[in-house]
Amino acid sequence: MTESSPMSSGDRSASIIRDDVRAMVAYPVANADGLVKMDLMENPFPLPVRLRAELASRLAALEANRYPMPRAESLRATMRAALDIPKHAELILGNGSDELINLVALACARPNAKLLTVVPTFVMYEMSARLFRLNFVGVPLNDDFSLDLEATLASIKIHSPAVIYIAYPNNPTGTLYPRAHIEAIVRAAPGLVVVDEAYQPFALQSFMSELAVYPNLAVMRTVSKSGLAGARLGYMAASAAWIGELEKVRPPFNVNVLTQCYAQFALENRDVLDEQAKTLRLAREDLFRAMQAFDALTVFPSAGNFLLFRILGADKEAATRVFEGIRQQGVLIKDLSHAHPLLANCLRVTVSSSDENASFLRALSAALPCRLAPS
Ligand SMILES: *Cc1c(COP(=O)(O)O)cnc(C)c1O
Repeated sequence: MTESSPMSSGDRSASIIRDDVRAMVAYPVANADGLVKMDLMENPFPLPVRLRAELASRLAALEANRYPMPRAESLRATMRAALDIPKHAELILGNGSDELINLVALACARPNAKLLTVVPTFVMYEMSARLFRLNFVGVPLNDDFSLDLEATLASIKIHSPAVIYIAYPNNPTGTLYPRAHIEAIVRAAPGLVVVDEAYQPFALQSFMSELAVYPNLAVMRTVSKSGLAGARLGYMAASAAWIGELEKVRPPFNVNVLTQCYAQFALENRDVLDEQAKTLRLAREDLFRAMQAFDALTVFPSAGNFLLFRILGADKEAATRVFEGIRQQGVLIKDLSHAHPLLANCLRVTVSSSDENASFLRALSAALPCRLAPS
């Protein structure tokens, strides 16, 4: 907009909006038009046709003229039955787990409160800390993306963080830290520890049952990675003491009726989602082996529905060039090479259907500088 525009004369945003917000950039989501989408850990498989008609009639019967029931009791009951949430644990639902991450920060943002995690990891933890003015502490992982337990425990002692996040398995590395390390962190933590199990369907490991053991533990999950990314539903289980407080900062109608209905239907037919997750777990092993055959890269073991890999060589832009080369051939993955020093020359690909994985491998093979293609 130019200065002479009638709109700009009344623009006071510069003097009103927080300086730190004005300095931010909005969360970047790449344009995927016409590309094979392997960037955001979406499940590539649609709902089977036989279920769609039934879902459509349920959605059509919704009373969208009414506000959603704030506690979403019907959905909760289905979730409790489907997702092995311990009886004694309470549950809070969010508009994606992204919203829950913000609610935790909002509720814990006392003056000088700190939020600690191990880095590189999911960026929303740090984002929430900045937005709600908690001091952020990121403890670097080891070079091989394993957890530096000694440094993490030392940092907990020094900073006494109100909130600790551990992504289990971690995004973007795929690492599943040893359970004993996480338990040591929970025991050492003076405040809340959120174990983020966004990739639980692909890791088949969980801390849900430990909720009974550790009163300062919360387990957060999402239905996004298992097939409902568009519906936006996240949930967190913890003791009534924690959840009762978080409920106070939750917008009452945050999970809309369409989402409640869709998620409930999907969970009632959870065998379909489970089968899709199983297919993706097997595809992950196939893709991992295929990528190991390339001499020009290192692929890291992953417990998620994605693989992190590093393009070898001293050139700092090598991975970005490979990323662009892959995109030019119609496949969108994620370039993380400038996201964190430990991720130098690293790219991340979502595990998809065998056809899409094959498209990716072809594009990768063609995009690599020295074509040391597998025999
Ligand atoms: C994708 C992801 C989420 C976000 O989940 P939504 O429910 O889609 O907001 C949370 N945590 C981790 C570690 C993720 O990778």
